[in-house]
Amino acid sequence: MKKELDDLLCATYPKIFAERQKEGSLMCYGFTCGDGWYTLIDGLCAYLQNLTDERGAPQVVATQVKEKFGQLRFYVKYITTENGGLDITEKQRAAIDFTEFMSARTCDVCGKHGEIIKGGMPIATRCREHTDPVLLVNLHREEMRRIIAEHKGGANPRVYLPEPCTGPNGENRIEILLIDYSKDMGLDFFGMMGEMEDLTGVYVNVTKTNVKPKQISGGEPAVEHIQYMLDNSVPL
Ligand SMILES: [Zn+2]
Repeated sequence: MKKELDDLLCATYPKIFAERQKEGSLMCYGFTCGDGWYTLIDGLCAYLQNLTDERGAPQVVATQVKEKFGQLRFYVKYITTENGGLDITEKQRAAIDFTEFMSARTCDVCGKHGEIIKGGMPIATRCREHTDPVLLVNLHREEMRRIIAEHKGGANPRVYLPEPCTGPNGENRIEILLIDYSKDMGLDFFGMMGEMEDLTGVYVNVTKTNVKPKQISGGEPAVEHIQYMLDNSVPL
């Protein structure tokens, strides 16, 4: 999380983030999650502090705030008093649990509705706009390899990730370049591409060519484009 949001949370909730600068506390690392979760954390802290100030709940102190497996983790301890330990109340625990639950539906970049992108690493919760094409490729890499292996077409697929990864209408996109592909690979592979698009909204363009890299020479725009993609792509 960027410094100004970090500073703002600490200034607004000094009791909850009393250990932000404390040596030996994991809070020293700051809020290790995206800016998109600022509103969630702010809302949680406003509620927690209100429970303490207005309704006598114990003061919670954050010991670590981070992202793990695409979800927020908000770890706290409670302050003990001279009268003995005060346990965290059910309401406080429920508020933390619910906020963590909501983080799995909130894009960690922008705070809009998002979904956890599972199956690959790294895992993140993202809206369609912020689904990282690299995440998408990681997510589907094994499945793409399986389909290619099944069809034994000798295809040598490469993934081309344009920089920035956006299409003409500002959409995220990736391009898959299939070299020396087999025709019967067809439906399985392109069906999976359609699913990828439906799932994430990332535009997937597949360019097929049976021209081997060494046979490509300048001239036609299409050939030049393939050469350009070859120069800027990575093997699947
Ligand atoms: Zn987003």
